[in-house]
Amino acid sequence: MNKENSSFKKALHEKKGVEQPDFVNQNSIRSVQKFRRKPLDVSLLIEKLQQGDVPSLSRAITLIESTQPDHQEQAHRIIQKCLPFANQSIRIGITGVPGVGKSTFIEAFGMYLTSIGKKVAVLAIDPSSSISKGSILGDKTRMEDLVKNPNAFIRPSASGTSLGGVSRKTRESIILCEAAGFDIILIETVGVGQSETAVHSMTDFFLLLNLAGAGDDLQGIKRGIMEMADAIVINKADGDNLDRARIAKLDANRGLQLFPMKESKWKPRVLLASAYYKKGIAEIWELIEAYVKLTKENNYFELHRNQQNIYWLKETINEHLLQNFYLDEKIIQEFPLKEEEVLSHKKSPFSAAMELLELYKNISKT
Ligand code: GDP
Repeated sequence: MNKENSSFKKALHEKKGVEQPDFVNQNSIRSVQKFRRKPLDVSLLIEKLQQGDVPSLSRAITLIESTQPDHQEQAHRIIQKCLPFANQSIRIGITGVPGVGKSTFIEAFGMYLTSIGKKVAVLAIDPSSSISKGSILGDKTRMEDLVKNPNAFIRPSASGTSLGGVSRKTRESIILCEAAGFDIILIETVGVGQSETAVHSMTDFFLLLNLAGAGDDLQGIKRGIMEMADAIVINKADGDNLDRARIAKLDANRGLQLFPMKESKWKPRVLLASAYYKKGIAEIWELIEAYVKLTKENNYFELHRNQQNIYWLKETINEHLLQNFYLDEKIIQEFPLKEEEVLSHKKSPFSAAMELLELYKNISKT
């Protein structure tokens, strides 16, 4: 056997490397390497972020998403410094079942908004992404034009084990996007229930995309989601579908009348649109502007944001307490024993829980 063949018999052998193609700019490689090796200058990052530098914004969001303690500490510093510059945008939640046209709509709506001089950031909350790893905005090619638009920023959903965690990251990302000068924040989520509540608790205006012809049950639209909506847009109102869309509009209007008056005093409206043919897009923006005008005049806009801040204060505490509790070593040891006692009817779930909580309280004191 010759030498060359014998090397191929080994499980690990080295293949000849690919020639470096000429068209790669060596200087750019070196500068990227230099950037990577340098420890992060948080103050500089904040400064650049606040000047609207998109790579700095991306990097800061990556820090928010990281679970490493030093990254979290840096993220915390960045958020603190950005807070005074946040709060100036209009935050719009967009929901609807898969296939209703959310991506197509965000592309059309985002392009329209940038055409009238707005800077648009698109974020997502996707409760399924931590399981399937496929986030709703993951496939950015679905927003071909917007992704290339210098006045738009698209960030796929953060992954995480809990909806609470993913939501917190999205909420903190909103602050950074605002500090970077984005004045419209679109937050996409799929119409499955839980995540809508999270999006509703961080947006000013909630938009539900619906389809004509498919019943509410088929669309998975729960009553609660419809009740949260400030506008329902019947999408795909084009071609043969137009007549059905008009009927769906009447139906949706009838459905909305069943709900009590909102605290905002805003009367939700139903509009027709074709995201694909870019029809009805400007009207949706006009409607949102009317909402903002009304709610700023009657002070609901600010009240709602304050309520949201208190909600997130409590949510964050809840999340931390839960996490600390279940990750505590003594609790980890004791929990299966209590489970056993509950299963063998020696203790009620209530008293087992009280004992575990008592144990935790004592641990916290020491
Ligand atoms: P998502 O899953 O809700 O994000 O939906 P997509 O934006 O991916 O759209 C699903 C499909 O519906 C795609 O094939 C789109 O081209 C199509 N679609 C989206 N909006 C419209 C529309 O307004 N009219 C028509 N005819 N098709 C649309």
